Parts: sequence; C-alpha cells; structure tokens
Amino acid sequence: MDIRIEKAEPHELKCKPDQNALGFGRYLTDHMFVMTYHADRGWHDAVIRKYQPFWLEPAAMVFHYGQAIFEGMKAFRGKDDQIRLFRPTANFERMNVSAARICMPSVPVADVLEALKQLLRLDQEWIPSAKGASLYIRPAMIATEPGLGVRPSKEYLFFIIKGPVGAYYPEGFNPVKIFVSDKYVRAVRGGVGEAKTAGNYAASIKAAVEAQQQGYTQVLWLDGIERRYVEEVGTSNIFFVIGDEVVTPSLSGSILPGITRDSALRLLRDWGLKVTERPTTIDEVIAAAKDGSLRESFGTGTAAVISPVGSLCYKGEQVIINGGKVGILSQRLFEELQSIQYGTRKDPYGWTVIV
Ligand SMILES: *Cc1c(COP(=O)(O)O)cnc(C)c1O
Repeated sequence: MDIRIEKAEPHELKCKPDQNALGFGRYLTDHMFVMTYHADRGWHDAVIRKYQPFWLEPAAMVFHYGQAIFEGMKAFRGKDDQIRLFRPTANFERMNVSAARICMPSVPVADVLEALKQLLRLDQEWIPSAKGASLYIRPAMIATEPGLGVRPSKEYLFFIIKGPVGAYYPEGFNPVKIFVSDKYVRAVRGGVGEAKTAGNYAASIKAAVEAQQQGYTQVLWLDGIERRYVEEVGTSNIFFVIGDEVVTPSLSGSILPGITRDSALRLLRDWGLKVTERPTTIDEVIAAAKDGSLRESFGTGTAAVISPVGSLCYKGEQVIINGGKVGILSQRLFEELQSIQYGTRKDPYGWTVIV
C-alpha cells in the first residue's frame, strides 16, 4: 500500500498540552491517517495528513443506520525513550471481526499497522513521558455512501486519530463503586455485543448516566435473557477471585473479547493460578461476597488496564469487596502489564511492538 504523507505546515502545529493534566480524550495530535474504500476499487487513497474535519453528505449511511466500528489501543514511551505498541495486530484483527459482523470491508492488517507506525513517528513528540501517561489510538471505520435504503454501504472511510492521555488513576489506584443493572442490558446472544460497533455504546449511555447520578462509577452488565449471568463492567471485561479460583465469564457471543482480558488470563495462568472461563451468575458473586470467599474483583481494558471493584450494588443491596481495598492480584496484574507496556520488564510474550 502506498501511503502519501502531507505534513501539516509548521504554523499549523498545535501547542502540546501540560503532560500532568491530560485527562482522557481531550487532546488530539497534529496528524491522522485516512484511507477510502469503494466496493469497485477496494481500499485506496491512503494518506497521512493534518487532523481535519471530514466532508460527508447528510445522507451518509453512518448517520442513519450506524455502520461504524472502532478500536482502542495505546502507545507507550519507555524510560529508554522507545515507543511501544501493545498487541496492535490483535486490535486490527478484532476490528476485522467487528467489520464482518456488520457487513463492512476488512482492512489489510499489516498495511494499517505500518501506517500507524509512520503516523506515530510523525507525531512522536505527542507521546508523553509522564508516569502512567500514554498516547491513546483510535482506529475507526464509517459508512459514507449517501442513501436512505437499509443495506451495506458501498463506500467507507477508515481513519486513525490519537491523543495523549494521562494516568487513568491520577489520585492513585482506587477501587470503584459498581451498580449492577437489572433494568438495562448491553447485548444479547445473536446481537452485536462481541463487536466494537458504535451502537453498543449509544445503547449503554443511559444506564451509565443513571448509575453515575446515584454515585456509582460504572454499570455491571448482566446477560440480556435471564439477567442472571455477569457479562462485563462498563466497557471492560470482569474478573472475580472466588476462593482460590480466578473466574471470568466465558466469551458467550455477547461479550467483547478484550485484549487486556486475554493478556490477564495468560499472566494468571503462567503464575500457576487456577483460572476458569465459565458462565458466572450474579447470585454466585453476591453469595461469595457475603460469605467472604469473594477475595477481589477487577475490570480489564485498554483505558484503565486494571480497574479494581470496591463494591457492588445489586437490587438495592450493597456488598463490599476486599474491604474496599485493591486486591493482591489486581495490583500484581496492573504492575506486570504496565511494566511490559513501558518496557521496564522483559516481554516474554512478544506483545510489544517497537515503533
Ligand atoms: C474495548 C472493550 C473492552 C476491553 O477490550 P480491550 O481490548 O481490553 O481494551 C471490553 N468490553 C467492551 C464492551 C469494550 O468495548
């Protein structure tokens, strides 16, 4: 694939934000990658250019029927000044799985990874060095063909934008309060829950807003049919340590197959722990919390890496997990994953890709 590079003019470059007050998703770098798809031509016009608006028709299909998918990954600047991506091929491969689910074209994985590397090199000054900070990368694909009939679009844009983000826990690695939703559901088997498609997030916002109004950080989602089986927490996968077993819901078709989930499973198994992917009911979790066998719980995802759960509110009742403190495994996983990502520890898995 030929990638045209049109650098922004020096006077068009933006000021870099304060590295210690980055937040999440507030700043975007100077350049982006874009390529265009047409059913007759395939992918073409790959270009790295100044971050700028798209010109789209109001009838573009993405605005009406939601053919839109995305990915989320990070680049990390190590103490050695090397830039590392964490399992980027897994992200692009997952994007192709999402694409297939909603009848969008797949992207050439090796080519888009090469495009991403070139883009990162061009914007390398944007990759922060502050502790816990990183560059969040957002690949996305949208349907651009104008037309009001419901069918797969013949035209798409694929793009990569990105921006520096701060440590997810600026005040420290603290457990969060979770509201178990038995009113709203995120996904059902046979639906699109296992695809990173925009509509899933639109559908989840109301439950998140209501939970936040009641003082909770996130929603724990139950399955859409029986509202009994635990699925995910917010936009993260969920783990429980019950007795001497680490449990996470099996990928049933309505759960997003997280790359952090997969990495955590690998580490936990390599540490010799008993790890089980199986259907997990909320009743089992609440009972384990009450009899003291629920030792810890945490979410896994690119944004926070590991997010310890301090309490669950289910049907009006609150259970505290591990005295509301960070559990041993949550802490160990967080440190191990971050060490690999920042290159302070050896990566025996080949997860990191040097840019
Ligand atoms: C992105 C996402 C995750 C986490 O996936 P990672 O690859 O670990 O970042 C989990 N659940 C949902 C719903 C997601 O969108």
